[in-house]
Amino acid sequence: MRDRKTVIITGASRGIGKATAELFSEKGWNVLINYSASENEAFALRQHLRLQGGEADVYQADVSDRKKVEQMVKYCFNKYGTIDVLVNNAGVSKQSLFSDITAREWDEILAVNLTGVFNCCQSVLPVMLKNKCGKIINVSSIWGMVGASCEVHYSAAKAGVIGLTKALAKELGPSNIQVNCVAPGIIETDMLLELTFDELSDLKKATPLMKLGQSRDVANCIFFLASEEANFITGQVISPNGGFVI
Ligand code: NAP
Repeated sequence: MRDRKTVIITGASRGIGKATAELFSEKGWNVLINYSASENEAFALRQHLRLQGGEADVYQADVSDRKKVEQMVKYCFNKYGTIDVLVNNAGVSKQSLFSDITAREWDEILAVNLTGVFNCCQSVLPVMLKNKCGKIINVSSIWGMVGASCEVHYSAAKAGVIGLTKALAKELGPSNIQVNCVAPGIIETDMLLELTFDELSDLKKATPLMKLGQSRDVANCIFFLASEEANFITGQVISPNGGFVI
């Protein structure tokens, strides 16, 4: 529907992206749900949002594939007539000792977590420049702020996302486009499946609020940054992390 605002959310089939899609839809936005592999989950989410009275569609695109990303942006623009907000949420992580990281694994982690953000930002930019407004919210991680042992490639990519956010915010500020970053702490999603019960309870104990975060906690920050209340905020990193990093 062309009278509503439109958001593209990458990696919205599961976890934080899914919760973000639900929140934007509840608030009356057109939502383009991007996914890479989880087709059933993405279509189920579209169905769910439509049953709630929302307007949502799905688009399969690996964010590291520039051509597919450009096609996705074109599809969204043709369908909804504009793109107001881009949420770069798609991400993958993997635990490995630094010495065990292969060149291929390094490239894969960087391709999705960092090049994916580059691809999506560059592809939506012509629309936002034409509109003379827009908001980009990039999902980094606390590990991009402080580094994680056994996740050097992931930490490097997520630190890159913070650098990209700050530099792009300076470049696009004069065009009235805000670029911000959300750097979540430990959030209960499939991404934690690699961790053991003991590792999770240690992380919980190391969190002043004594609990893990939920996807909705992150979605709330993302939605705030997308809202008009955040019009004077750009180049910033907000970290919903329960006090894990202060
Ligand atoms: P998740 O539950 O594993 O979901 C990851 C999402 O990213 C899925 O929807 C997945 O879609 C999508 N995705 C993966 N590779 C993709 C690709 N190449 N192209 C497009 N989509 C792709 O993870 P999550 O915890 O929600 O993570 C969301 C974001 O938050 C990530 O950027 C992650 O790094 C960040 N983060 C998470 C935590 C945490 O503790 N959970 C903490 C800090 C930061 P498909 O299944 O369709 O591939």
